[in-house]
This record gives sequence, C-alpha cells and structure tokens, in this order.
Amino acid sequence: MEKKKITVVGNGFASLFFIQYLLPIPVFPFFASFLRRIYSKYEITLIGNGKFIYFPAIPEFIIGKKCKEDITLDIRPFLKRRNITFVEDEVIDIRDGGRTVIARKGTYHNDALFLGIGPAFMKDAIPGTREYTLSPCSGPDEMELFIKKLESLDRGIIYLGFKINKEDEFVAGRAGQMYECACLLDYSLKKTGTRGNFEIHFFSSHLDPDAKGAITDRMRERGIILDYGYEPVEFVDGGMLDADGTLRKADLVLFSSGITAPKLAQDSCLPVSQGGHIDVDRYGRVKHLSHVFAAGDCANHESPPKWVPHQAHMAQLRAQAAAKNMNEVLRGKSPTHTYRHELSCILNMGNDAMWLHASSDNKPPFRNIFPRRSRKLIHVKNLFEKMYLLYLRYL
Ligand SMILES: Cc1cc2nc3c(=O)[nH]c(=O)nc-3n(C[C@H](O)[C@H](O)[C@H](O)COP(=O)(O)OP(=O)(O)OC[C@H]3O[C@@H](n4cnc5c(N)ncnc54)[C@H](O)[C@@H]3O)c2cc1C
Repeated sequence: MEKKKITVVGNGFASLFFIQYLLPIPVFPFFASFLRRIYSKYEITLIGNGKFIYFPAIPEFIIGKKCKEDITLDIRPFLKRRNITFVEDEVIDIRDGGRTVIARKGTYHNDALFLGIGPAFMKDAIPGTREYTLSPCSGPDEMELFIKKLESLDRGIIYLGFKINKEDEFVAGRAGQMYECACLLDYSLKKTGTRGNFEIHFFSSHLDPDAKGAITDRMRERGIILDYGYEPVEFVDGGMLDADGTLRKADLVLFSSGITAPKLAQDSCLPVSQGGHIDVDRYGRVKHLSHVFAAGDCANHESPPKWVPHQAHMAQLRAQAAAKNMNEVLRGKSPTHTYRHELSCILNMGNDAMWLHASSDNKPPFRNIFPRRSRKLIHVKNLFEKMYLLYLRYL
C-alpha cells in the first residue's frame, strides 16, 4: 500500500511538537532511528529553514547568560533520525485546498498538511516601529544588537513595551516576555553598578494605569517607571511622539508588536480570521479545508478564554491534538481530540522568579510541586530548556 504523504511547513515549536506526537514513541528510543527507517506509516516532508530557535531564552541575553549559538539548533539530524525528508525552502503559496504546497524552489503534493509557520508582527501599527525600535521577538540577531547598543550607553532612558492584537479575542502579543526583559535589564544594570544612571520605563496601552498585581509589584520594587495606558503615535529618532506632538526622549526602545499570521496565510487558499490568523477549529483543523491542520502562533482558536496567549507551551498542546487528529482523519475517522487552554511560564527576574499560570480547567502546573515564587524557579526554567534541547539534539 502506498504511504500517505504528509507535508509539514516550518521547523519551530509547533512543527517539532507535531512530529513528536504524530510518530509513535518507541520503547527503546536509541534504536528508533533504525526502526523508523525499516517501518514508517507516512512519507513526511518538512519545508523550513533548518534552524530551530529556542525563543524563551532570548531575554537572558540581557544578563549575558545566553547567546545566539546557545539557542540555535540545526534541526536536520533530528529529522533524519525520524526518516523525514527536509527541504530547505520557503513556502510562498498553498493551493488546491491544501493539497499543493508551492515553495520558492519546488512544488510538493500531500495527503495531509500541517502548518506551523509561527507569528508575523504587526510592525505597521505604530509608524517608526521598524526603524526606531528593537524586539526580542525578531530573534537573536536583533536582541544582540539591543545588547550592543545598551553596552555603548553609560546613562540614558530605556523604554520597553508591547502591543496586543485583540481582534481574535485572545492575547496575540508578548506581554510576559517584555516584563521579563524589563526586570532582567534592571538586574543587569544593578550588577554593573550603573542602574542609577538609567531610567527604565514600561508602557502599553493595554495596561490599566491603576493596575495592581504581582507583576506590577515586582516592577515597582525595581524602580521601573510604569507608563501603563500609554502608547506613542510614532517612534522617531531619539524617542517617541505623543498624540499632541510632544517628544518623549528615549535612548533605546525594546518593543513587541501585536501578533498575526505570516502573509502566506493571506496570500494562499487558507481561511483567515478577523485578526489575520489561520482560522482553525477546536481540533486544530483549518476551517473549510480537508486534512489541513495548523498550530502555534500562526493559528486562531475557536472560542478561546480571553487570557490565553501565544506560547510555546500552547503550541505544544495544540500540536498534540492536531497530530492525533491527523492520524485519525488519515484513517478515515473524524477528529476527536481537543486541547486545554493554559498559560504557563516562568518569569525570570535575575534575583527572583515567578510562575505565571492560568488554565481553562484550573489544574495547577505539575501538580503544584514547584513554588509559585522562588529564585529556584530559574533553575527549573533552565532545566526545561536543557532537556528540550537535549531531546532535539540526541533523541
Ligand atoms: C523573547 C521570547 C520569549 C518567549 N518566552 C516564552 C516562554 O517562556 N514560554 C513559552 O511557552 N513561550 C515563550 N515564547 C513564545 C514562543 O517562543 C512561541 O509561542 C513559539 O515559538 C511559537 O511556536 P511556532 O512554532 O508557532 O513559531 P516559531 O517557533 O516562530 O516557528 C515558526 C517556524 O516557521 C518557519 N516559517 C515561517 N514561515 C515559513 C514559510 N513561509 N515557509 C517555511 N517555513 C516558514 C520559521 O522559519 C520557523 O521555523 C517566547 C517568545 C519570545 C519571542
């Protein structure tokens, strides 16, 4: 019998979790590569750039604990061990209801398609974002540029902020990561004894000026100036413009724009939500298309809770459901697997850490075995990273 052809687009968290849950887990992982060569149900092709980036570690560039090399991984050996054909290319169109994928250098046909193409940032929402701000979300190169600029200053005013795309009624933006960057910046400047020379501001129009809570308390304790409720009308050379034309001086701006799906979603046959995400249902199926699934930052949710963010953790939960459902639809069955909504991340503040958590079923993270606030959580966060990168490198 001819093997079913599966195409996976993207090699970020969503796609790699998808592959993890699609393929059966072998009893002896070290022989898996050999076993998969002699028996595999599917013929899988992944189209991507071959480089996996562990984004959650990028804020730690600020304290000099991580750099680009530490968090960038060649994903080809991982795919080879799974008998997956890797194509280094960029997908530019999807046609025939998902059955044909067009990349710059070739065309690929499939029986089922998984899309894990990640986010696009809405950098046109505030003029000057591209020219005058930097973002940890644009990847390691841009974060290293921020560090270089920071090191060239001996005093100054630094603004950090974020924007959220709320059109799809969930948190399509990076708030937690920006809080983490602000606290780590404070920690780093204190370590070098220069904190007194810098003003650190934190802004977002999505934050209530009277907001209270644990994160706000941690920011206040660190002397970070809270410009909650504020958003500039434009980023300009030397700062930001207010609605009345006043210039707020800033020597550096670290900013994360709202999230939507990459342009590929709009340019192809994929249905697009109000907020520009690939429109999927509760099973991770792309709506109105057959045997097409999507997960991660590119995809919408069906009836999400308002607090759910785009996260690697959510990408995992969604990719797991999508993989199980793809297995079902390829066997001619209807999909049955839905996913939980959960916000779960450790906010590293250098000398302290908090576990931020919310879930649709009120289940605590890891059965509450970890404290919600402790410096030790930094080790837990590092352990998760090490374990995942070890898995990608060797298993
Ligand atoms: C600074 C920062 C800190 C973060 N911290 C955390 C955290 O602590 N915890 C947490 O859970 N999450 C965190 N996140 C969020 C997390 O990194 C994302 O939610 C996650 O990366 C989403 O996975 P993804 O696969 O959807 O997208 P990505 O990981 O971005 O992968 C997308 C992939 O698609 C590829 N691609 C895109 N377009 C195409 C195309 N046309 N053709 C082929 N390939 C394509 C890209 O090259 C990439 O390989 C953080 C993010 C940032 C930026």
